[in-house]
Amino acid sequence: MNDVPLSNFWSDSAPDDSDPRPALTGHHEADVAIIGAGFTGLWTAYYLKSLSPGLTIRVLEGERVGHGASGRNGGWVIGSLAGLSRLVEGLSRDERRACCRILADNVDAIGATLAKENIEAQFHKGGAIYAAARYPGQEAIQRAYLEHLHALGHPEEACYWLDAAELAEKARFRNARGGVFQRDCATVHPLRLLRGLARTLETMGVTIHERSRVRSRHPRGVTTDSGHLRTELTVSATEGYCAGLPEMRRYVLPVQSLVVATEPLSASCWADIGMAGRPAFADASRLVNYGHRTADDRLLFGARGSYRLGGRPMMNQAIPASAVTWRRDLLTDLFPALGEVRITHGWGGSLGLSRRFRPHALLDRASGLATAGGYAGEGVAASHLFARTLADMILERDTDLTRMPWAMDETHPSRGLRRWEPEPCRWLAAQLIGLSYAGEEALMQRDRSLGIVRPTLTRLNDTFASVIE
Ligand SMILES: Cc1cc2nc3c(=O)[nH]c(=O)nc-3n(C[C@H](O)[C@H](O)[C@H](O)COP(=O)(O)OP(=O)(O)OC[C@H]3O[C@@H](n4cnc5c(N)ncnc54)[C@H](O)[C@@H]3O)c2cc1C
Repeated sequence: MNDVPLSNFWSDSAPDDSDPRPALTGHHEADVAIIGAGFTGLWTAYYLKSLSPGLTIRVLEGERVGHGASGRNGGWVIGSLAGLSRLVEGLSRDERRACCRILADNVDAIGATLAKENIEAQFHKGGAIYAAARYPGQEAIQRAYLEHLHALGHPEEACYWLDAAELAEKARFRNARGGVFQRDCATVHPLRLLRGLARTLETMGVTIHERSRVRSRHPRGVTTDSGHLRTELTVSATEGYCAGLPEMRRYVLPVQSLVVATEPLSASCWADIGMAGRPAFADASRLVNYGHRTADDRLLFGARGSYRLGGRPMMNQAIPASAVTWRRDLLTDLFPALGEVRITHGWGGSLGLSRRFRPHALLDRASGLATAGGYAGEGVAASHLFARTLADMILERDTDLTRMPWAMDETHPSRGLRRWEPEPCRWLAAQLIGLSYAGEEALMQRDRSLGIVRPTLTRLNDTFASVIE
């Protein structure tokens, strides 16, 4: 049995942070207040300040920098978007391609910005493998996924099929039948990125307050327990941690996601598994399991999370031993060479889901509010792109980004966000979806001839999604 300290690998492997930054006290003014020091908040501050150095910007973080999902995630920097198919609905083929090009370029843009600012965050672009590995039905799923990527506008040279031998050159999954390779995906140490970015912002003149939880917001400012900030514009960058802000929590639902990391693996173990190029990997299933080889030779691995009644975000990080064991079993099923590998870290956090399952960058000048989020578990790269979009919108710059379907302001055809249903409807829906996913997975694994099962359950799930749409 593993001796699991239940700690976050990123916190344990990032250089020590300084003492907490001073909280906001007394009355102050700023051009822009940003609530939340995760990727969305800090990248928004970075692009606003870079484009308009004269702006005064204060970031208000309820805990410490990186307390939310940005300091707890799986480290994938994805050159696509969750919810992209909904966003590009109705766009021409050329427009979809332009959108996908921006998403792919975003991965390189993050790498370039980290290099420019000397932020050492272990950024590594090794692509992503979506393997058909655990049961035969997965090959059809992955081939359909590849077609879907091309239909969305991702070019063939960036997303292509690997046969079993080609896949084995990149990574050796048990019984792998092939899989999809997606070129535009990197991995990063998220907490190193955030802490480095926070320091960069301070040299640029942005003030970051920690332990400064915003209790209320109104069109002319925000109030914390010990201070008040007068401002014309507030950016709410709270994604899955918005429960304390009544005007945000109706729109973004926190869903828990849990991750584990192994001890550093031996050279002989890596010789069995492959992954010399350190790609990110996932396999096709509703379990949403994914991972990558870290810079210090561990396997980091996450799998499906859950929804808590009332939409409470996961403030602490500890995860139960059963959750660790389940992930360990999935991982060793994919890579038998891991044998009795020791899991040294396990942690979790909350990601944000918007009601229309579309991520958004939204500016509402009338109420003095801007926000971005709803990344549905794919926010590491998206938050960078959406922060750039928000900065352009706030500064009234007409750019390619402000014309993208995620940019919403008064002129956007589907302006505004939709509210989630009250409880217990949300919780019941989450249980139903979870059960149907588990059923689908169990049947796919047990009866290899049940080719009709997945399409049927998929149709049921899609029908459910369109009903709540
Ligand atoms: C376990 C896990 C694994 C994930 N893996 C991946 C992955 O591999 N790739 C990927 O692309 N995405 C992944 N995600 C999703 C991704 O991490 C998030 O989408 C992204 O980090 C969201 O960034 P954010 O800045 O918008 O929000 P957060 O990082 O959640 O930051 C919100 C911040 O707001 C603060 N806050 C909230 N309310 C207040 C208040 N009232 N006053 C002051 N501060 C407040 C919080 O303390 C928090 O620090 C994962 C998420 C989780 C939980």
